[in-house]
Amino acid sequence: MSLLEEARQVAAEFDYTAQDVNKGVKEFIRQMDEGLQKNGTSMSQIPTYVTSVPNGTEKGLYLAVDLGGTNFRVCSIQLHGNTTFSLTQSKVAIPRDLMTAKKAQELFSFLAKQIETFLKTHHNDHFEAHHERRKAMSPSENFTDDELFQLGFTFSFPVHQIGINKGTLIRWTKGFDIEDAVGKDVCELLQKEIDALHLPVKVAALVNDTVGTLMARSYTSPGKTGTLLGGIFGTGTNGAYVEKLDRVTKLSTFSGSTDYDKSTGHMIVNTEWGSFDNQMTVLPNTPYDTALDAESVNPGIQMFEKRVSGMFLGEILRRALLALTQKKECQLFKDENSSSNDIHSTTTIAEDSMLYKQWGIDTSFLSIVQEDASAGYRITRQTLSRDLGVDAASIEDAEAVKTLVAAIGKRSARLSAVAIGAVILSTGKMDDSTQGNIAKQENNEVDEENVIDIGVDGSLVEYYPGFEEYIREALREIEGIGEKGEKRVRIGIAKDGSGVGAALIALVAGSAEKPGR
Ligand code: ADP
Ligand code: MG
Repeated sequence: MSLLEEARQVAAEFDYTAQDVNKGVKEFIRQMDEGLQKNGTSMSQIPTYVTSVPNGTEKGLYLAVDLGGTNFRVCSIQLHGNTTFSLTQSKVAIPRDLMTAKKAQELFSFLAKQIETFLKTHHNDHFEAHHERRKAMSPSENFTDDELFQLGFTFSFPVHQIGINKGTLIRWTKGFDIEDAVGKDVCELLQKEIDALHLPVKVAALVNDTVGTLMARSYTSPGKTGTLLGGIFGTGTNGAYVEKLDRVTKLSTFSGSTDYDKSTGHMIVNTEWGSFDNQMTVLPNTPYDTALDAESVNPGIQMFEKRVSGMFLGEILRRALLALTQKKECQLFKDENSSSNDIHSTTTIAEDSMLYKQWGIDTSFLSIVQEDASAGYRITRQTLSRDLGVDAASIEDAEAVKTLVAAIGKRSARLSAVAIGAVILSTGKMDDSTQGNIAKQENNEVDEENVIDIGVDGSLVEYYPGFEEYIREALREIEGIGEKGEKRVRIGIAKDGSGVGAALIALVAGSAEKPGR
């Protein structure tokens, strides 16, 4: 068997057919419903106490921080009130050792220090003025809320939210593991470290990045249509959507706040869909998925996420590549395969190659390979050398790698379509289309009235070439959506979504606290 044939055989293990997609959607809808009714289900379906989405007229200056899975972002956002905003931001990588620190304080004091640096760099006037006032005040005096920056804290891990700025950590995901923090209020943990540095900042809102994405997209999206769903495809994957309040039946028995605006008839629900089908009834499975899970910090958990998101695709590829190199006859990265007669092209794998190390391949590698249209896959071969220490790989090697990459990326996007399609169908969006503008529909134009708006965020959906098109292809295959329904779906990147979204929720939180409302 040729190398390419062998690669195709491994790639075929990642096939996820139209039939699989439809089975997935049905089960996804079932698990969504179950999560709305009771606690302790695989998809948590967490009520966020945010009951409406913005319309673009909101105004003010806010701070926002975002603890994703890879980076910590600090930003200030000026909302102009006309669907536009200005944003200043800084970003640092989270040191790996802090992700698994002994004490929560180690991580949170690092975060507070980044906020301090940001304020000194970008808002020094406000910062200095605050210090002067502090000196003039008696120690027992406190600042009023008006003197403080209201901060929206985007915290993209599952929390049991008990109020707009109060929530306890349920469990870590995405490689974080700080036992000490589990069960604690993450806003309080951050506020404590902010106060220790005497920063003029109040943690006003706890925001899941999905909700932030949904809010931000709704603020900036064109037209009057509110956004239905915010989806994250970055280090992890998750989604939040606008649900009918009376469908969230567990709210009546839920041990959370009862103090929220019920007049809208809606509740934004954070699905925690990364945990969809942890029981593995419909999710696809390969030996590479199984091994990745078994050697992860949380086996059996976040099973959907482990097949979809940026944190994992590189590792799936690494395992698939290794399996291929270890096949007895297989010629991947072996010199005999080299098609050129160039004597310099001795293919070698460095002994300390990242190919042999867990998490050794970053998902950005997949994007580079997927995108490569250079003659003779020059870019892929260069990247193999630079990132994986595979020198003088052949064109056939590169083709084999690309075959695997495409299969893994495509499966991820098709699974993403399962989540998106399930939310569209379960919220009845396909049924409530009006006649709409028939002329436009006949001309194959987007009919604004019937648009289903979806905001997405995350490096995977933003940078993986063709990710959205793979999603759309799968949406067309879903019964109840089809070609016609897929055209109604408008997917937009919520650029800086978590920052703007967090600002919008801090704003909502602030105005809800003011008397007379
Ligand atoms: P976060 O999840 O921290 O908010 P991102 O949305 O930037 O951050 O996602 C980071 C994840 O995206 C990492 O797992 C990384 O491997 C992956 N990633 C980074 N760049 C790319 C890229 N060009 N293509 C695909 N995935 C990428
Ligand atoms: Mg993010």
